[in-house]
Amino acid sequence: SSGTQAYLAQIGGVPVLVLKEGTQRAFGKEAMRINIMVAKAVAEVMKSTLGPKGMDKMLIDSLGDITITNDGATILNEMDVQHPIGKLLVEIAKTQDDEVGDGTTTAVILAGALLEEAEKLLDKNIHPTVVVSGFKKALDVATEHLRKIAVPVKRDDISMLKKVAATSMHGKISETVKDYFAELAVKAMLQVAEERNGKWIADLDNVQIVKKYGGALEDTQLVYGIVVDKEVVHAAMPKRIVNAKIALLDAPLEVEKPEIDAEIRINDPNQIRAFLEEEENILKSYVDKFKALGVNAVFTTKGIDDMAQYYLAKAGILAVRRVKRSDIEKLVRATGGRLVTNIEDMTEADLGFAGLIEERRVGDEKMVFVEQCKNPKAVSILIRGGFERLVDEAERNLTDALSVVSDVIEEPYVLPGGGAPEMEVAKVVRQFAAKVGGREQYAVEAFANAVEVIPKTLAENAGLDAVDVLTELRHIHESKEDGWKFGINAFSGKVTDMWTLDVIEPLTVKLQALKAAVEATTMVLRIDEIIAASKMEG
Ligand code: ADP
Repeated sequence: SSGTQAYLAQIGGVPVLVLKEGTQRAFGKEAMRINIMVAKAVAEVMKSTLGPKGMDKMLIDSLGDITITNDGATILNEMDVQHPIGKLLVEIAKTQDDEVGDGTTTAVILAGALLEEAEKLLDKNIHPTVVVSGFKKALDVATEHLRKIAVPVKRDDISMLKKVAATSMHGKISETVKDYFAELAVKAMLQVAEERNGKWIADLDNVQIVKKYGGALEDTQLVYGIVVDKEVVHAAMPKRIVNAKIALLDAPLEVEKPEIDAEIRINDPNQIRAFLEEEENILKSYVDKFKALGVNAVFTTKGIDDMAQYYLAKAGILAVRRVKRSDIEKLVRATGGRLVTNIEDMTEADLGFAGLIEERRVGDEKMVFVEQCKNPKAVSILIRGGFERLVDEAERNLTDALSVVSDVIEEPYVLPGGGAPEMEVAKVVRQFAAKVGGREQYAVEAFANAVEVIPKTLAENAGLDAVDVLTELRHIHESKEDGWKFGINAFSGKVTDMWTLDVIEPLTVKLQALKAAVEATTMVLRIDEIIAASKMEG
């Protein structure tokens, strides 16, 4: 308020305010500096994980549970960052993950580098709004250039999609598993991809991921259908049904037990018999109904008691009980059936269809596989692996791979990786800066310096002398016609044509990472006051 301004002017620019006890307040540059410091610190933590030679982080939560990963989004999530700016970076990582599923570490490191450069400009008394507008102009130039150099590919170019999938998993799992997972990811996404109103959609939600530890990562399998982590409920039931007509229930197949507080007064033993018979008859009538409709498989979210199991088995019906709600919903979508809550009202139209339902042994356990579904877009990946943490990390890797494949199917343009695009951006933004002039020019140049953090960090993580490598890389990008393909081979340390190394990334991942980083930076540079309420005494 103007009252506050007047008060500040009186004391010569030193921000002092009388506040309610406990409230903390920081202004202007001080506020911004605190925020930048926090963002830099978070980005610094992330740097060592970037690229195939990046290290893992061991995260231990308050309950002592351990996660070992180098997945950016997971690290930020688990770090439990308390500071609001730290939380903002967690948000960028989440957005990056939701939008394109990869490049989270890149986005956060870029944001840290942009803020570091911004801080230097603030020191030169360049106003934050000038920095922000310079960064935005640089982002536009960068985006346009990346779109220009991006290579168009065919949506169903399996070999290209595999390279992109493999790049997202470089250094994270063994070479053989990486290629195998890349193949699974490509097959799964191509199966679910579809054209809707002229637009290609490859929705990750259509790929069910089921984890079962035991076995090896190489035992991971792609299932064209749904996997239900339950057994067939009774030994006498069939374990394999061809041409399944399926009832999907959200209803118990059990004799109603009287409510705890209900009192049944029975004087005559015949009454007990009559009561039980009545209940039994209801169950029998359900099974008769199934038979009449030609149902040969039943999945329910609720229980199936012994009596019901007996009748179902006698009718040759395969039944599974206590199916997870999320699984039954997948079955509904995959088999084209409807979830039934009242069996009496069930009709033919409620039934789902699958070419094959089979109970199979997976390790020491049994699972029910529902395949050749009415909706062929339903696929699952059953991840196996020696122990739980390995399976969890495999899931994260596979999700990255599925994401980048989906990115390319939806927008079929790719770029070389290994810091090549960032180096190109630095080059064109520097050229552009000369045309900007004024104080904004400093901000545009700062942007160019900031994006070099990606090749620089890749070089550092490979244990190389980053200064030498960057100089060489800069030179190649500026002087060679196909210089745009050159990046850092994280394994040999050499400046290399990334195309020949098959290190290839989706255009959208690179665009989104730059955009997210600039958005976060802008947000931080717009904050000129922090008002933190006092913590509750506890
Ligand atoms: P992010 O969460 O940002 O995807 P990663 O740790 O997965 O972070 O690292 C991705 C970076 O590693 C990208 O810039 C990618 O091009 C690069 N990269 C992947 N494989 C290689 C490789 N073999 N050589 C050099 N860089 C690589």
